[in-house]
Amino acid sequence: MIQIVGMVVVGWITGIILNMLADRLPAGQVGRSLCQTCETILPWEAQSVLVATVAGKQNCPSCGQRIVDGRKIAVEIVTPLLFLLATVTSNSLAACIFRAVFLSIFLLVAIIDLEHHKVLNKVLFVALLVAIVGIGSGVLPPWRSALLGFVINGTLMTIIAIIGKGALGSGDVKLSFVLGAILGYPAAPIALAYGIILGGVAVSVLVLAKKLSMRDYTPYAPYLVIPAALFLLH
Ligand SMILES: [Zn+2]
Repeated sequence: MIQIVGMVVVGWITGIILNMLADRLPAGQVGRSLCQTCETILPWEAQSVLVATVAGKQNCPSCGQRIVDGRKIAVEIVTPLLFLLATVTSNSLAACIFRAVFLSIFLLVAIIDLEHHKVLNKVLFVALLVAIVGIGSGVLPPWRSALLGFVINGTLMTIIAIIGKGALGSGDVKLSFVLGAILGYPAAPIALAYGIILGGVAVSVLVLAKKLSMRDYTPYAPYLVIPAALFLLH
């Protein structure tokens, strides 16, 4: 019970950090979130939606613009829930921590791809480093499995990217390599297949609903990380 409460609290704090990273990392910066209107660095209490709401400070102290947005609220709610899932599906504290870290990284990758249409190399690099530590410490599938997942998923997505002629970004391909290493063979290619189907269905629905044109950029990372998260928790 203590572990569950602890992980939910850590998840909430992680959610606040993820919001800061999602706001600043795409511009190559790290630090507190800025007001989107006047670009003033917001005070610490305004970095959390929950704290800002309780403290009655939902507006920028400089320009008065509302600083609480939908994504910030969602991330501060979803991250503790993901940490809760990581806790109840893990049979050791180490597994729980690795799952929570990867779920946080997946969420960050999805947000940045949705908002900025890119998958950041530095985030993928951190994910790969964590994967190497996880494989080395025996929490993740062994080296052979990770290497097979890495090569198979990366190669498949490279081929799809070449055939698709620009439908997939290089970020999606790099992400697939990293997800392949994290999940390992045989889970990795199965998760990738689900991701491709999920993305294909979602894009088709959006095109049919005229919310998206075939020429538009499609953020594909969210469709790749959702099945990867499910397989990670399996
Ligand atoms: Zn402002």
